[in-house]
Formats: sequence, C-alpha cells, structure tokens
Amino acid sequence: MATDIDKLRNIGISAHIDSGKTTLTERILYYCKKIHRMHEVKGKDGVGATMDSMELERERGITISSAATHVFWGDHAINIIDTPGHVDFTIEVERSLRVLDGAVLVLCSVGGVQSQTITVDRQLRRYKVPCIAFINKLDRVGADPFKVKNQLVEHLSRNAVLMQIPIGLEDRHQGIIDLVSMEAVYFDGVQGEIVRRDIIPAELKEEAEKSRQAMLDAASMFSDELTEAVLEGRETAEQIVEAVRRGTVARELMPILVGSAYKYKGVQLLLDAVVHYLPNPTEVENIAFDLDSQEKEVILSSDPEADAVALAFKLEEGSYGQLTYIRIYQGRIQKGAELQNTRSGKTIRVGRLIRMHADRMEEIEDASAGDIAALFGVDCHSGDTFVKPGLNLAMSSIYVPEPVISLALSPAEKKSSDNMSKALKRFTKEDPTFRTHVDPESKQTIIQGMGELHLDVYIERMKREYQVAVQTGMPQVAYRESIALRTEFDYIHKKQTGGAGQFGRVSGFIEPAAEKPYEFVNEVKGGRIPREFIPACDKGFQASLKKGRLIGYPITGIKVTLTDGQAHDVDSSDLAFQAAAQGAFWQAYANAKPYALEPVMKLSVEGPIDFLGNIFASINQRRGLIVSSVEDGTFARVDAEVPLSEMFGYSTVLRSLTQGKAEFTMEFLKYSRVPAQVAEKLIAEYQEKLQKDQEK
Ligand code: GDP
Repeated sequence: MATDIDKLRNIGISAHIDSGKTTLTERILYYCKKIHRMHEVKGKDGVGATMDSMELERERGITISSAATHVFWGDHAINIIDTPGHVDFTIEVERSLRVLDGAVLVLCSVGGVQSQTITVDRQLRRYKVPCIAFINKLDRVGADPFKVKNQLVEHLSRNAVLMQIPIGLEDRHQGIIDLVSMEAVYFDGVQGEIVRRDIIPAELKEEAEKSRQAMLDAASMFSDELTEAVLEGRETAEQIVEAVRRGTVARELMPILVGSAYKYKGVQLLLDAVVHYLPNPTEVENIAFDLDSQEKEVILSSDPEADAVALAFKLEEGSYGQLTYIRIYQGRIQKGAELQNTRSGKTIRVGRLIRMHADRMEEIEDASAGDIAALFGVDCHSGDTFVKPGLNLAMSSIYVPEPVISLALSPAEKKSSDNMSKALKRFTKEDPTFRTHVDPESKQTIIQGMGELHLDVYIERMKREYQVAVQTGMPQVAYRESIALRTEFDYIHKKQTGGAGQFGRVSGFIEPAAEKPYEFVNEVKGGRIPREFIPACDKGFQASLKKGRLIGYPITGIKVTLTDGQAHDVDSSDLAFQAAAQGAFWQAYANAKPYALEPVMKLSVEGPIDFLGNIFASINQRRGLIVSSVEDGTFARVDAEVPLSEMFGYSTVLRSLTQGKAEFTMEFLKYSRVPAQVAEKLIAEYQEKLQKDQEK
C-alpha cells in the first residue's frame, strides 16, 4: 500500500563518526519492527548492523554506502537514507543530502560539536535541509547535553532548543522528561520496547518548568496562536508541536531530543519527533533545469499525475544484481513504463520496481512523487535524471569538485587486470569525484580523487569486492598552470611544399580569466578567417590547455580572443587552423608570465590543549596558514589552509606528535599560486623529466 504523501518522511541521519549513528539506525529499524534480532555494533558476534553492509566500513568504522530503507512508524512511512559521514566522500554525502527532506543530526553528549559535525552542518545548510538534533550517549561518563546544546548555539549558530531533558546522566540515566507533554518517559523491557509515561520526579520539577519555559519562548516565535495561549496559560501540546514544526521546516529552529541509543532510551520519542517536526515531501521545493531553455529553473510539482521526473542517486551492486536507487520528484513511475535518461538520451523500460526494507526487498507496482524506490538492471550513472520521454529536464547539477590527487595503479598479477577495469568502471559510475584514465605517455592507469583516504578506500574495495591486489605509485598532486599577463599572438601555420598544402594564420591575444577555466571569443571581421574554420581554432586552443609547458599540468583561467587571421583558398582546412591555434597559443604562452597553481585544503585539527603547540608547529612546517583556533574546555580546534602537496602522511605525523589524541579532517578549498621557491623546484623537475624523455 502506498502511503499518503503527507504521511511520508525522507530523512537522513548525519553525524560525526562514533557518535552512535549506526547504533541509533539499528535501534530505529528495530522499533519499527523490521528487524527482530539486534546486534551490538562492532560486537562480539561480528554480525554488525543491518545498514552497515560493507565489511570495509565496519573495519574502519565509517559508513560509505548510501542506501535507503523504508520503515513504518505508526501510520507514517519513513525512508531512511544513509548519509556517509566522512568528509572525503563529500560527493556521496551531498548527493544523499539532496534526496532527503529532513535530517537528524546525531551528537555525542560527551564529544559534542566537533570538526566533522561542523562539516556535516555546513552541508545540511548548503542543501537547505531542515533538521532536528539527537544528543546521544547520555549514559556515558562525562555526558552533558546542556553543554552540547550551548555548542549548537555558539559554534553552529543554530537556534537550538531542548524539547526534552534527561532523568539522570551517566550510570544514573533512567529516562527522559518530555517538555511538551510534561511527563517522565521510561523505556521498560529488555530492549526498551515498552514506553511508560509517568509523573515528573519531584526533584526535577523545577528544572523541567524552567526548560519548558525556554522551549515555549523559542516556539512562540513561529505561532501567534501559541504566543497568546502561553500568555493565558492554556497552551496545548498540538499548538506547541505545530509551532516547533513550522520553525523547523523554515530552518529557523532546531529542536533537540536526547537519549542513549545503546541503552535503548529515547529512540521512540525521536521517531515521534521525525514525524512531528520534519517536513513531508510536499513542503520542500524541488527544482530542475530545463535543458531546452538554457537550464532555466523549473519548480517541480509533487502531483502524481504530472510528468515523471526522478533522480538516480545511488547505485548498488549486490548478489541480486545492480540496483539503482531513485527519488521521484514529480509524477509517478510504474512498472512497465518507459523512462528517458536526460544525460545519455537513452530510453529504458522499468522492469522491476523495488522498495527496500531493512530485512527484505518488496516488489511494487508504482511509486509516486516524494517517494524513494529502486530499479533493477538499469544502466546509468549516479546523478542521472530519468524523465517521461520527451521531457528535457535535469535535476539541478550537483556541485562536483575536480579531483586534487592522483595515483598510478597496476594489478599485482596480470590476470587480475580485467577485474581491475571492472572495479574502476563501477566506482567511477558511483562517484563522479573518483576518475580514472590511462596516461597517454606512460600508458599507466591513473586514478584521481579528493584525498589520500578517498583513493585508499577504493583500493581496499578492489581487494575485497573484486579480489584485485594492486601496486601503486606515489600520490601526485593535481597542479595547474595559468598566466599573469595579456599577450598577443600572430602565427602562421604553413606547409606548402609538395602534396596537399596546409595554411592558416591566426592573430589575437590571450589574457587571464579569473572566473572560467577557459573562454573563447571570436572577433574576426570580414571573413578574414572563414566562419567554418572558427570552431577548429577553438578546438586547437583547447587542445593546448591539456598540458602546460611550465610544469606539465593542465592550464586554466585563460581567455582567448581571436581578432584577425588569413586563409588560403585551397590549402586551408580544419587541421591547418587547429595547428595554427596551437602554434599561436604556445607563442603567446611563453611570454604571458605563466605560473603554477596548487590545490589548497581546508584543514581542521582537533586535540587536547596540551598539544596545541605541536599542532601549530605541524601546520606551520607545511606552509599552512592558521585561520582560527578555538579552545573549549580541555580541547582545542585549529582551522587552517594548507597546500595538499605538504599533507602526505600527515595522519602518522599528527598521531606521533599528539600521542594519538588529535584527529583531523581535510577537504578541498581552492587553487592558489605556488610560492616562487616551490615553483622553481617543480619547473626544474619538469625540465629534467623532459630531458630524460628526449634521451630515451
Ligand atoms: P557511528 O560511527 O556514528 O556509526 O557510531 P556507532 O553506532 O558505530 O557507535 C560508536 C560506538 O559508540 C560503539 O562502540 C557503540 O557501541 C557506542 N555507542 C553508540 N551509542 C551509544 C550510547 O548511547 N551510549 C554509549 N555509552 N555508547 C554508545
């Protein structure tokens, strides 16, 4: 049975690693009656949680795959979309954030807001995801949900408000006070499955009244009705829930729930909160690009009768074959219907339509706007849009950063090379920030990605899922080249001796272009270069950009303006003009003050204050720029900008500098000009390589 769209929630659970996301997810699935035996995460039986399917993830304690699981909570259906938490997998995180309508931000009541929490929070903001917070691990020594609430306010600038307070902390944690109903809630039974409501213990009454007042003050901002009712002392639970819901959906309020997933406390109330406060799919605006009219934005309608639009957000290969997870944004998708992939133009027929439950797969006849389903055996990439044939809409393009690091790769045994290609093909389909190509000069297979760990994980997956052991070269930083000076060119390409001749002359100038990697402007007047040869000139310039002559890396930030030229009646051709453009480009490039660019990463290091000096030193030694450092009790967080080329092996260095007590996260920030001394070295290395290649 399909659920009414207003009774549907598409949610993600976002968290810092180790905050208890996996445990919480498993508890949720359990209470939703979908799994009947529970395993402790990383427990002795080695079975692990249902969502955490990949062995590798379990070992590393990070969640990489993002699948969707359908559960019921009362008369509501919830799709839980697994959002990977590690920053090295930004594109996967962002794609899964894209398809959800709301999120639960899990925090540890001891660790609180940490650098990864900040990254996750930033991503939730970028995708405008309404969220509620769950402060977990109230049973741990040092648990302090009030401190974490303040961190949400101070470090994340969230209008965070406690909807509950704990009854006892650490080993005295017994239950939760619900500030809406003003009841004490206990979780009885072996696995907390019996929710028992009782009166608030006398010693907590005063604190509960105070916290409720703060909650009512915050909620009243979103409802005049509630404000009035509060003034007259007659506010109802419905009025409070409605006001909090409005604030949350508008992303101006973050309700906080508390509990201990591990000790089976608070999870059912969190599920109630998901249903109460997070939006249904009709309450979120979704936009597609109209490819027929210059990517004009089109607002999609959740009407099931409208033309179908769906986004393939995750591919998964299992024992059952390839599954493509889709979110339907508009219309309805039925078994047997035809759909068109707007990227490839190919039309597919929907063979089998699937809904994934935690413990089983259900074949369904159709799925409508707002819902999440999976297709069997469809060839496509993650991020592709499927539409009713003829409709030329694409879901707004997801921000895809360019890879910043590369590695040469070869199979340890020759016989595994087929499997290696298979694995690479699959990974690049799943993850657009992971790329691969064969280097035309060295003939080596190169993989590219967003960081050392990003590439490491794929190398591991090759081993586990495809039984391919590989040998790898040193990681290489993706440098770029650009120019500083506007420089003119006037170049004749001429070969007119014997046979068919070649002739083309181009003149104009190249100049730095900050906003775009490449721009081509044609200002040739009076057909001095016949119209049909202009694209060839463009192509010639672009070909030159692939590999610069300063340090041998791609050139970016170039605007080429073609102002004049000359053609020959017989000897001019596409090829001749391409060659002329290339010759012209290199003529100008040498004089345009070319310089090298390097990827700079945003680094966040967290550790005990005692090691702050060491952390600073490690950043300074790496040409790092410290942006800020915040102290919070005995912990400190340092944010910095550091060139990627200096960061290899940093995890080992940091571990030994801080007795393993600090951790760091890193993500790509920008390209910056390489300082002169470093550039000299890069140039010398490139010259040496050229020399060697010539001698060969
Ligand atoms: P994830 O990395 O965020 O998915 O976190 P996990 O669910 O794997 O939990 C990390 C560790 O914290 C595991 O050892 C869990 O058993 C433990 N854990 C999770 N929830 C709680 C909790 O509520 N209280 C306590 N004390 N430990 C918890």
